Amino acid sequence: MSSSTAQAGSAEQKVAVVTGASSGIGAATARQLAAQGYHVVLGARRTDLVDELATEIGGTGRQLDVTDEASVDAFLEGLDRVHVLVNNAGGAKGLDPVAEADLDDWRWMWETNVMGTLRITKGLIPALIASGDGLIVTITSIAAMEAYDNGAGYTSAKHAQALLHRTLRFELLGKPVRLTEIAPGMVETDFSLVRFEGDKERADAVYQGLDPLSAEDVAEVIGFVASRPPHVNLDQIVLKPRDQASARRNIKTG
Ligand code: NAP
Repeated sequence: MSSSTAQAGSAEQKVAVVTGASSGIGAATARQLAAQGYHVVLGARRTDLVDELATEIGGTGRQLDVTDEASVDAFLEGLDRVHVLVNNAGGAKGLDPVAEADLDDWRWMWETNVMGTLRITKGLIPALIASGDGLIVTITSIAAMEAYDNGAGYTSAKHAQALLHRTLRFELLGKPVRLTEIAPGMVETDFSLVRFEGDKERADAVYQGLDPLSAEDVAEVIGFVASRPPHVNLDQIVLKPRDQASARRNIKTG
């Protein structure tokens, strides 16, 4: 469906909004939630990809750039019935020491992961409360829990995004909204390709020699979270490949 198509789905069907649904974890989550009976509204900048997936799963694809106020406003228009929000749009750019930090990369990471999550969440809180049983899932990272060499742009943005999410857990206490932070370790998606500006060899090397998580592994966990009864709040879930013990240590680093 095109970005101009009004929100579809029957009056009884629950609605899930997934940001960054054009690839990786977001696309797998959209498929997972649709399989669990949700009408999924998929947002990303690559509208051809979200439209294609929306058609496949019977959802609604909409153009969304979480860094752009006008795009967010247009995306949110008419989204009055929303039960689940998955804040997934995000990623990393570069892997540089602070002394050589690229300010544009930092701005990209903060705008996408932090301000993007803020814009969408703020816009949907009224609808999530009104649903009577809302759920906000935010995909942070183990980078929201640790520091690692050359990663400060991403780790600082993910820490900030996580704190935004964790603060809401307090602020929404007493309202019918659950909040779950999902903090994955290594997941093989386009993440490293984006981080290394399309350098496929460098991106592939990240996952060589160990067995990373797949986007579907993470999506299944999100599906489990969404299928808990309203009184059960899974606050924080950290999932890593068996081959990875922390952001800094895996079977390759020893
Ligand atoms: P991915 O395949 O690169 O997916 C990133 C998604 O974010 C894409 O759908 C992309 O869509 C969307 N996105 C990026 N900028 C956007 C913007 N300005 N507006 C709207 N959407 C935007 O990577 P992924 O691994 O699935 O990443 C999903 C989330 O998981 C991210 O928040 C990432 O930080 C987090 N995470 C990933 C890993 C990992 O190892 N892969 C680990 C921990 C956490 P468009 O380009 O079409 O806009």
